Amino acid sequence: MIIDLRSDTVTKPTKGMLDAMFSAEVGDDVFGEEPTVIALEKKVAQLFGKEAALYCPSGTMTNQIAIKVHTQPGDEVLCDTTAHIYNYEGGGISFNSGVQAKLLPGERGRISAQQVTDNINPNLDWLTHTSLVCVENTANRAGGSYYSLQQMEELASVCKQNNLKYHLDGARIFNAIVENTYTSSDIGKLFDSISVCLSKGLGAPVGSVVLGNKEFIAKSRRIRKVFGGGMRQAGYLAAAGIYALDNNIERLKEDHKRAKELGGIMSGLNYVDTVLPVDTNIIIFNLNDKIKPEDFVKKLADNSIKAVGFGKQAIRFVTHLDFTDEMLEKTVQVLKGIV
Ligand SMILES: *Cc1c(COP(=O)(O)O)cnc(C)c1O
Repeated sequence: MIIDLRSDTVTKPTKGMLDAMFSAEVGDDVFGEEPTVIALEKKVAQLFGKEAALYCPSGTMTNQIAIKVHTQPGDEVLCDTTAHIYNYEGGGISFNSGVQAKLLPGERGRISAQQVTDNINPNLDWLTHTSLVCVENTANRAGGSYYSLQQMEELASVCKQNNLKYHLDGARIFNAIVENTYTSSDIGKLFDSISVCLSKGLGAPVGSVVLGNKEFIAKSRRIRKVFGGGMRQAGYLAAAGIYALDNNIERLKEDHKRAKELGGIMSGLNYVDTVLPVDTNIIIFNLNDKIKPEDFVKKLADNSIKAVGFGKQAIRFVTHLDFTDEMLEKTVQVLKGIV
């Protein structure tokens, strides 16, 4: 039994998902004739109450397309210091859009309306034009924390008042939704664009969707092609996305339950210094000087548990669809046996 806690992207399609994929009806999506892709796009758009959607190969692409559509070269995007769009997309905001980021030190990955207000540049020739605000919900690097509806609403109204576009990196938005009383359509009302990953906790092998109004999606379609993301009989993959949305949203709570249990146990271990609050399916903890991160990872590997370092003394575990109660039990045993 191999236990993989590196990410929630490691899941493999189940029999039910594979059956859905193999029986998908397909066509050429570049010609706009892919029935299963169209069905997926409609489904996600409806779920969030947005006019239209676009299926893409990755969440990096959906975020980068949104940034490209919303900005002009030389503009500035406001985001948290830990943002995925800034840290983990290969410098794409400058590479693809010629845009720079102003990083705001948020509270566990969450920026506030006040911070945005304080960082909008006045319209002067020598200042960068602030045009876009990006938030991440849940916030990955910050340990899976989520925004409240009120925080997202306050940011929306600052954006509206100041003519800024408002994008949600919702790679794990369903992890936030199942922990809160807000719904996908509550969220859809607030943002100009939303990126949603199907290949994280939802368990599809490939794919993300970007949502917005018709005009935004028409522009996004063109940019997807320019970025090399126009796919053909992608319905085989989109079928997995539809299956994931139908079957794997509510069960995210199980991942959260296991993550919280693991987090609770971690904080009692003598070689663990601190554990970030576990709000969803991500556990980030710091080892103390009793053990080096590489030795810790090696000891786990010797017990068939895969994990990766997350900077300095930090390690991140992510729970997911393929991490069972049996695996949780074994992981706890192994963790208690270290040092
Ligand atoms: C995973 C992730 C993405 C997209 O990643 P891809 O690997 O390109 O699909 C975007 N934002 C966040 C917060 C993520 O965790």
